[in-house]
Amino acid sequence: MQITAIREVDCPDCGTPTSISIPTGDVELRFSHSVAAFGEQTKVTCSNGHTYWVHFCR
Ligand SMILES: [Zn+2]
Repeated sequence: MQITAIREVDCPDCGTPTSISIPTGDVELRFSHSVAAFGEQTKVTCSNGHTYWVHFCR
């Protein structure tokens, strides 16, 4: 996965912003509590300890 941008995302549980690396600046971010079977995604843990996945949708 090519990392080209940093974007701030809000935790779906508590709203705490976390900076993540995204593959390009032109993807739609979708949040999930489970890993997807395919596609580009990254695991995020907010400062309150919530873990969620961010999926990159083109
Ligand atoms: Zn959180």
